[in-house]
Parts: sequence; C-alpha cells; structure tokens
Amino acid sequence: MYKAKAYSVTSATSPFASTTIARRDPIEHDVQIEILFCGICHSDLHQARNEWSGVMPTVYPCVPGHEIVGRVTKVGSAVTRFKPGDLAAVGCLVDSDGTCPECKAGFEQFCPNQTLTYNFPDKHTGGVTYGGYSDSIVVTERFVLRVPSNLDLAGTAPLLCAGITTYSPMRHWGVTKGKKVGVVGLGGLGHMGVKFAHAFGAHTVVFTTSPRKKDDALRLGADEVVLSRNADEMAKQAGSFDFILDAVAAEHDINAYISLLRRDGNITVVGAPEKPLPLSVFGLIMGRRSLSGSPIGGLPETQEMLDFCGKHNITADVEVIPIQKVNEAYERLLKQDVKYRFSIDMASLKSE
Ligand code: NAP
Ligand code: ZN
Repeated sequence: MYKAKAYSVTSATSPFASTTIARRDPIEHDVQIEILFCGICHSDLHQARNEWSGVMPTVYPCVPGHEIVGRVTKVGSAVTRFKPGDLAAVGCLVDSDGTCPECKAGFEQFCPNQTLTYNFPDKHTGGVTYGGYSDSIVVTERFVLRVPSNLDLAGTAPLLCAGITTYSPMRHWGVTKGKKVGVVGLGGLGHMGVKFAHAFGAHTVVFTTSPRKKDDALRLGADEVVLSRNADEMAKQAGSFDFILDAVAAEHDINAYISLLRRDGNITVVGAPEKPLPLSVFGLIMGRRSLSGSPIGGLPETQEMLDFCGKHNITADVEVIPIQKVNEAYERLLKQDVKYRFSIDMASLKSE
C-alpha cells in the first residue's frame, strides 16, 4: 500500500477537503496511473451528497471522480498493453468478473460482479474504492483505455463518462443520418450527446430550460433548439422524433417528451434524478413508443468511442479548474453555470 493525495467529503453536508488515501501497490495485472485530469460528473455530486441513498448509499469518506485521464507510471509483470509514459484513461468501472455472459459479450456495465471506480467495495484494500479526485490510481489492465494522441487531455477526461453514456444508447438505438434526434438537458452529458448525434449525421434538436444556451447548442451541432418551458415550441415538435436522449439531472416532466416521439420511437433516460419521475403510460401505448434507460458502456465500446473521438477530433467543452475550487464548482454545477464540464487539473494537488 502507498499513500495518494486526494480530496474527499466526510459527510453528505461537508465540503471537500484535502486528505490522503491508501492505494494498493500495482500487482501482476495492474497499471498505476498519475492522474492528469478528472472531470466532474453530476453523479459525483449526487454521490458525495448521498442523494442516491436508496440505491447506492454513500460510504464516507468518499473520493468521487470517474472521468480520469493520466500517464502510466508503473505496470505489473503481466501487463502487455501499457508501459510507463503511455497516456491512459479510466471510466466508471475498475473491475468485473470477466467470466459472465455480459463480460464475455463486452458489456461489463451489466456484470453482476462489477466494481465501480468509487464508493464500491474494494476487494484489494477491504475498504471502498476511491475515484479520480486524486493524484494517482491503480487499475487492472482490462479496465484501462487508450487515449488518442491528438486529443486535448482536459477535454478528453469527460469522454470517460459523459461521452460513453451518450454514445452508447445512440449507437444501440441506431442514430444515423436521416433520423430526427432530441437531446434533453444541455449539461455535461447533453452537450456530448449533441456532438455525437451531429457527428452521426442525425437531425439534432436540443431541448433546454436555459434560453442563454441557445447559441451554444447551435455551435455544438444542433440543427434546432427548443425552449422546453415554451408550450408552443414543444407542440410544434409533436410526434416527430425517432429517438430522444434524456440527460436531465433533476425532476422534470418526461411525458412531455414521450409525446414528441413518432410511432415506435424511443426515449432513453440517462439522467438519474434523486426522485422518481411520474409516468403517464398512455403516451407509450398510443404510438407503441418505448422508454428505456442506459448505463455508461462496456470496455470495447468505450474504446470505440474514444477512437471515434480521435478520428473526428471530438472532446468535451471544459472549464479547467484547480482541485481547490471543487466546492465552488459543485455549487456552480447546480446553477448550470458551467460550459459544459469542469475538468480538474490534478497538478494543483501537488501543492497540498
Ligand atoms: P449537468 O451537467 O448538471 O446537466 C444536467 C442538465 O439538466 C442541466 O444542464 C440542465 O440543462 C438540465 N436541468 C437541470 N435541472 C433541471 C430541471 N430542474 N429541470 C429541467 N432540466 C434541468 O449533469 P450531467 O453531469 O450531465 O449529468 C446528468 C444526469 O445524468 C445526472 O443525474 C447524472 O447523475 C446522470 N448520469 C447518468 C449516467 C448513466 O450511466 N446513466 C452517467 C453519468 C451521469 P438545461 O439548462 O439545458 O435545461
Ligand atoms: Zn459520470
């Protein structure tokens, strides 16, 4: 074991503060990574504040962060794909059994024995896993991804969660040229959804509650922007969408979007609000529409997404902050005051 620097919260209401955590020394299949950038996902905020207490109660101290990009510092004797000095990335998963049908199919996100990057039992330390708000991490090679060399690293970190969480359902539901696609909520996930829908050639419509985001939505690749609190604008879109991605982090009326789908259209929810969303089933019945959810993505698809981003030069729009500004960043995230993802420059942790 060795000590790593990190920022943690010690309760649902306490601010982040500097700390040290125990990390395992890299064993046979492990890759040790010096973390260069870590994105701030709204899930980090939900978890740090124990907003998902019914599903995934938070164990304190909690070190969030699952949008990790860094440089390899050490590898175990059995590691073949990485060597010290290589760029590397880690997302929301750090382990799975590797033997179940889901893992064999490359769907580690559905493995019943998966290990999440933070706030999850850690079989190596006996405690819980600690995420990327830290200066280093040790991860088994199978869960370490390659970073295309042409991409800006601060903007690459958010691809590991916001990127794959929007890329995967769009691929699954066949978002391509000729399809009309909606993205609800122009936040960290939503803005990546717009970039991907546009890159896949779909007619892309952003639904936002924030009029001031209109110009950005168009710049990010939207063909149209709808102010979702304007009933007339919403009514004009009725029954016209093949696919809608709902990336909203708070309570909202999902039925209003279901009615915008065509026959057999699908709305996939990726946003994970604290409270249940009321559903009117008539919207689904009339039109044989479907509602589904989607969690992150498996390892092969995450690598595919990173390579796609490398080829198309896609990264997140980020505001880079030092770790010392993480508390302020959380408050700004809640006020939707970030364009469109915070990315923490981990060099700032050296001074702690
Ligand atoms: P974010 O950056 O805070 O963006 C959320 C967006 O939702 C906001 O920018 C805003 O967009 C909209 N919004 C916020 N409050 C709203 C309200 N009261 N009514 C309507 N719209 C509202 O969050 P994020 O990091 O993108 O994460 C979004 C959600 O996805 C979170 O719940 C997160 O936990 C979840 N998530 C799920 C997965 C998964 O695997 N399924 C992975 C990562 C994150 P506008 O200003 O445009 O309206
Ligand atoms: Zn996330």
